[in-house]
Amino acid sequence: MTNSLLLIAEAILYFSLMVMLFRLRGRIGIGVFMCALGVMHFLETYLASVFYVALPFGMLSPGSTVMFSGKLAMLLLLYIKEDATTVRQPIYGLLLGNALMIGLVLLLRLHELAPLPDGRVPDIGFVDQMGWLMVWGTTLLFVDAILMILLYERLGRKLRGSPLARVAIALCCVLTFDQLGFFTALHFVTGAPLEVLVGGWIAKMAASLIFSVMLFAYLRWFEKDEASAPRGLADIFQALTYRERYEALVEHVGRDGLTGLLHRGRFESDGEQAVAASLRTGRPLSLVLIDVDHFKSINDRFGHAEGDRVLRSMAMLLVGLADAGDRVFRIGGEEFAILCRGPHSLARLLGENIRQAMKDLPTADGVLLSVSGGVATVDGSTRSLSDLFELADRQLYAAKSGGRDRMVGDGALHVVERMGSRPAKTGR
Ligand code: GH3
Ligand code: MG
Ligand code: MG
Repeated sequence: MTNSLLLIAEAILYFSLMVMLFRLRGRIGIGVFMCALGVMHFLETYLASVFYVALPFGMLSPGSTVMFSGKLAMLLLLYIKEDATTVRQPIYGLLLGNALMIGLVLLLRLHELAPLPDGRVPDIGFVDQMGWLMVWGTTLLFVDAILMILLYERLGRKLRGSPLARVAIALCCVLTFDQLGFFTALHFVTGAPLEVLVGGWIAKMAASLIFSVMLFAYLRWFEKDEASAPRGLADIFQALTYRERYEALVEHVGRDGLTGLLHRGRFESDGEQAVAASLRTGRPLSLVLIDVDHFKSINDRFGHAEGDRVLRSMAMLLVGLADAGDRVFRIGGEEFAILCRGPHSLARLLGENIRQAMKDLPTADGVLLSVSGGVATVDGSTRSLSDLFELADRQLYAAKSGGRDRMVGDGALHVVERMGSRPAKTGR
């Protein structure tokens, strides 16, 4: 009885202090909460390997029951109130910190030791045992945390109205999985008996319930604002595994620094793939090439900075007019390409819309800008991107030599005549 009460008292103390640090995150920073979570790791593992108490249903350790279960509850809280990007920080930190510890211990054991005056020497066997368990524990924690969050999200669809059940089920399932995993290691490292598996499991289930109730109460009374919108499981998993940051980096590398559009290199690779896919599937693909008319005069009259500003607004205009599935590239100074997932007529329409919209683009001194464009579409004669590009480039050349401010597509019939009258183009 005393043991049970002590465990409950420990759980309440653990939860109250941690949640208080979490609550103060706005004022003192989330780092305080995370450090507190991490610093208990050694004691938690030490207790889980040697500090056991007997309860009527078996043997259990406060290290696993209170501290490890509590840590998972804290990670879930961090996820619920912050997001996957935040919760992965302590998860990765613990995992990598333990890996670092192993590296350091490997070096430490190479030292020639100077014994202390009382003859004491470090117990490397103990350090090894702890190290092993800590690495295994954090590897499990890593898997546990990802599983717990995915499960919590999945349960959200069925249990949106019962947040308490949602938290409790997620914690119970993950701690069951964890108990099996941790006991296996414990059994091999310290020879823990089967009683520990059963006792520890029952205790972890009780801990799940106690922590769930406290978490629910805390969320209800202290963090009333609406939980964030539900996210797809794939999204969460990607955030937890840092994938989206890697993808953002890859994406960024392929972008032009001035306009943020995809650059020439990406045009070559994406374009080649898009042409191959279009030839394979028969789905239409068109290329719209755009070149600003007499752009040099903007630079000459108003300076390079104004020229740059115009290019940036133009990039926004192109992205705004293109369809969601289209890709816009800046392939040269004032030359742009759009890979349009549509037939020739649609790409022509897009080109024409761009031509028209350019007239409303704000410029210094209200100078009117115009563009010329060439449009080509994948057909029986197309074998690669360069075929498509060559054709569109020829159309663009025809548009320039035909007087500029026009879009030219396949065949003479496709030439779009200038619509209505237009104020004279500003040149030098
Ligand atoms: P047209 O195409 O109608 O024949 O005339 P143009 O004046 O546009 O001719 P061209 O394509 O030869 O000149 C492009 C100019 O674009 C040359 C250069 O000064 C300018 N330019 C190229 N890259 C940049 C850039 O990044 N920023 C700015 N401000 N200007 C650029
Ligand atoms: Mg040019
Ligand atoms: Mg030009």
